[in-house]
Amino acid sequence: MKSDELAHEFNQCIKCGLCMATCPACKELLLEKYSPRGKVQLARYYARGELELSERYRDIFAKCLLCGACGATCPSGVDLKKIFLGMREEIAGKKGAHPLTLGAVQSLARNRNISGEDNEERWDWKESLKGVPEEVFHKKKAEVVYFVGCVSSFFPMVQSIPQNFVRILSETKSDFAVLGGEEWCCGFPLIGAGLTREVEELKAHNLEKIRALGAGKVVFSCPSCFRMWKEYYGTDVEMLHATQFIHEMVRNKTIRFRRTDMTVTYHDPCDLGRNTGVFDAPREILKAVPGLTLVELENNRMKSVCCGGGGNVEMVAPDLSGAVAQKKIEEIRRTGAKTVLTSCQQCVRTIKGRARRQKVDLQVMDINEFVYQMMERKK
Ligand code: SF4
Ligand code: SF4
Repeated sequence: MKSDELAHEFNQCIKCGLCMATCPACKELLLEKYSPRGKVQLARYYARGELELSERYRDIFAKCLLCGACGATCPSGVDLKKIFLGMREEIAGKKGAHPLTLGAVQSLARNRNISGEDNEERWDWKESLKGVPEEVFHKKKAEVVYFVGCVSSFFPMVQSIPQNFVRILSETKSDFAVLGGEEWCCGFPLIGAGLTREVEELKAHNLEKIRALGAGKVVFSCPSCFRMWKEYYGTDVEMLHATQFIHEMVRNKTIRFRRTDMTVTYHDPCDLGRNTGVFDAPREILKAVPGLTLVELENNRMKSVCCGGGGNVEMVAPDLSGAVAQKKIEEIRRTGAKTVLTSCQQCVRTIKGRARRQKVDLQVMDINEFVYQMMERKK
């Protein structure tokens, strides 16, 4: 981290503490050092040469969900994300990445995914997919590439997300391709682990695959892949989240919905909402479903509270992740809705996993699954 680059950020902090009131990690850990303000001060001391990095500081900076709630609150416009990612990079350079992220990091180097499995297993979710013609998976050229992401590809709990999004693409006769074993991790977990340089190879490979297919659009169901591409890939290819792609098809009447009397609430994933600015597309989709009642969470849009699954915290501090997820579930329950929809595989895993462990009667669905269930089918 170049201290001169960040001096501007440190100097803007007026130590007001407003960021602490919105930080879900600091509300659980209850110590200043874990708060955004505390971490800004530690980074400042480090930049001045007054603090020597150790495993202790690696632990402090790792217990941050990278949710962006602090930056959205800060009246001085401090770029907290830049500071926190810069410190993670600095610590990884001096002390190595957090030991509990090493499994994913080593798998990425070996297999090009975070799961530890051979990368050809990215097709795993396709095995139980019925009703989609096999030829759509063997295209040489396509207008749109659907970039699935590691978590939805390998984690059975959320493989229904690519299955349903592909069903939607197929039903609407979209000209799409999926990279399967040729898709490599987007690199987002490496950024979170402070290993930014290792991202270049992944990025170059993925961009080359899109070019080879002649695609003008890449669509993502994972908000973190979407954010990663938007912030780090530097490409002119159009990038859309699945909710934006679906919203366009709802707007032009390619997708129409059946009536329902369901009441649902919607959780804004941090990387889709606050960190990438997509708030309206999912809500417009839901508004187009006749009879559906959407009850907003107390903290919605920019104020949305993380599900507990961000920033690699699930790997390094599962108890913290679980405690944040518990608060999320309590907020969802206060709406009275029995179903929460979201647009992120990690939010689904975190909220559904916690609800199951706590035996909470709550239906947790990704919006792709909901859309496919509710859309009128072509004869
Ligand atoms: S809200 Fe901004 S200015 Fe206030 S303590 Fe936090 S980082 Fe500093
Ligand atoms: S990014 Fe989220 S978890 Fe990290 S310090 Fe800011 S508010 Fe807290």
